[in-house]
Amino acid sequence: MQSSWKKYSLSVYVFLFVIFLLSFVQLKVENPMIILERFVKNGGWFEILAVAFYGSFIVYKMQDPGKTAKWRMISWTVFTVVFFSQLLLGLFGFEKFLMTGKLHLPIPMMILSGPVYRGELSIMTLLFLSTVILTGPAWCSQLCYFGALDNISASKKKPAKGKIKNRTAIKFTLLFLIIFLTIVLRWFKVDLLVSTLIAAFFGIVGVFIIIFISARQGKMIHCLSWCPIGTIVNYTRFINPFRMYIDSTSCTLCNLCTSSCNYDALNREDIKSGKPGISCTLCGDCVSSCHASSIKYKFFKMKPESARGLYLFLTISLHAVFLALGRI
Ligand code: SF4
Ligand code: SF4
Ligand code: SF4
Repeated sequence: MQSSWKKYSLSVYVFLFVIFLLSFVQLKVENPMIILERFVKNGGWFEILAVAFYGSFIVYKMQDPGKTAKWRMISWTVFTVVFFSQLLLGLFGFEKFLMTGKLHLPIPMMILSGPVYRGELSIMTLLFLSTVILTGPAWCSQLCYFGALDNISASKKKPAKGKIKNRTAIKFTLLFLIIFLTIVLRWFKVDLLVSTLIAAFFGIVGVFIIIFISARQGKMIHCLSWCPIGTIVNYTRFINPFRMYIDSTSCTLCNLCTSSCNYDALNREDIKSGKPGISCTLCGDCVSSCHASSIKYKFFKMKPESARGLYLFLTISLHAVFLALGRI
């Protein structure tokens, strides 16, 4: 357990860092991106303070390993609710709640298929890539507006035993199918409405997977098998140096930690190999499940506890910033 002053100091760092990042947006971007600024002059500063306080509170709570999973779920859900509420308000005519007024389907697949279809990178894609560079897989544990739904659904039940069968084959088939289909749609200049309907169908199937399969399996089947962005995150996250490992000197191979992972990353083989599987998002839900404290964060030569603190600092700061800026 960390000492109180250490917990407070990390909260203060998050508070200041969020203020720094959002102040930059408030001062430099002409069309106000902080929502309150669009309604009240200088209101953006109050929102920045509120969001910074929120970030510092969440990081304070999440530093306690026993509460990480609970507060990760709460904060990720808050982000999703705020994101989709703003989208709904925008759709009902309150345009100030939209980012640019240019709508697109709110499914993560668009981060990939949007640029392939249009032939140019979008702000969303750049934002996504920068989070992978900064925090590795944190996009899929606390920053994506969609994955929280899969997390809630999967958390209703203990994860089913054993690895998901043919997961890698399914993931890559879907990834390449989506890229291929998007290129075909672009090549044949297929009407935007038809292309949007195809993407919407993909999103609706995803929602069914969340509701009916993830809930039954106790694993995030949508994120692990269906979403192509999850596949990209799984394999690009290694450009970031943060890692999770299982200390073989203390691990008793009891496999008790398996039931704490919704990401199918702590199966028997993963534990034996000394590191979680490829789908690990470094979410930290498993840290407190180990009676021997064998599951640890790694960042170069830093002590595991400091590496975890640094990871939380970066992830929660980004999470708070996204809360203020994330909308369509
Ligand atoms: S796998 Fe897809 S839906 Fe799930 S968190 Fe990652 S980007 Fe979001
Ligand atoms: S709970 Fe801890 S000791 Fe048991 S298998 Fe997992 S990491 Fe090893
Ligand atoms: S192994 Fe641990 S940190 Fe990795 S995804 Fe599973 S619960 Fe999260």
